Amino acid sequence: MTGIHNLTIVRTIKDLRAITNEWRLKGQTYAMVPTMGALHAGHLSLVEQAQNLADHVLVSIFVNPAQFAPHEDFDSYPRTENDDCIKLSDYSVGAVFCPNAKEMYPDGFCTHVGLSGPAQGLESDFRPHFFQGVATVVSKLLLAAQPDIAIFGEKDFQQLRVIQRFAKDLNIPTEILGGPTMRETDGLAMSSRNAYLSAEERAKSVQLITIMRQTAQRLQHGELCKAVLQEGLDALKDAGFKPDYLALHESQDLKPFTGSSLTKEQLGDYRLLAAAWLGKTRLIDNIEV
Ligand code: AMP
Repeated sequence: MTGIHNLTIVRTIKDLRAITNEWRLKGQTYAMVPTMGALHAGHLSLVEQAQNLADHVLVSIFVNPAQFAPHEDFDSYPRTENDDCIKLSDYSVGAVFCPNAKEMYPDGFCTHVGLSGPAQGLESDFRPHFFQGVATVVSKLLLAAQPDIAIFGEKDFQQLRVIQRFAKDLNIPTEILGGPTMRETDGLAMSSRNAYLSAEERAKSVQLITIMRQTAQRLQHGELCKAVLQEGLDALKDAGFKPDYLALHESQDLKPFTGSSLTKEQLGDYRLLAAAWLGKTRLIDNIEV
């Protein structure tokens, strides 16, 4: 167990359980915020939400190798544990769990969580390995810590729905809550990967949410969905993006919208989700429609 700015940092599941067992024995509740570090105001908003909902906050920082494909950015993903802990020390955080890969995936590890339902389509069409990696590590984190509540960002909307689904299916006794997407002042959703953007790309990146908002507005006005989504994709390409998808899906079960245009009764029930490359950076975002 180590400390930085009075923050308790634990690296093993045994040490983590020593702390959470103590909380539980005292009848105190705790909310967990799992992250991959490189913390920004989006992560910290979840920490704040956790603070308001439970007696203690537990943050985890683990860059999970299982959710990266071999060609993806696992090696270059920003790792800033010291800075992260300094940021967390401004909050009332009971413990930070920072395991290494061996602690999470010891020799002989061979169990994975398989998914369908909300894990199908969207991200899975482009990152087929991704949700199994997320579901496996999040299950392990939730079973290791057994928090009353765990909070995930709506920024990764499909991930939130996948986690809510498997937590229910596997009878994990943790309430899974979402927190709203924090954005830069120009509208770009905050993300640890935004650090990859060059100054020129950063200036262009705002077009993603701008085009998404325009697209959502047209869908809200009942324009033909297929044509509007195609025009949105074309606009993204014209703005310099290489889009993976721009799609309208039901907000709860994430089934794709199959009608021709949204009716007034359907407003609020759908989500516009997008992923697009800007140079070597993949941005994702989503908004309610
Ligand atoms: P990550 O470190 O990217 O795995 O993210 C950890 C948690 O923070 C996930 O639940 C994300 O959805 C959430 N998150 C990431 N970016 C934001 C944001 N801009 N606003 C709110 N939550 C976010």
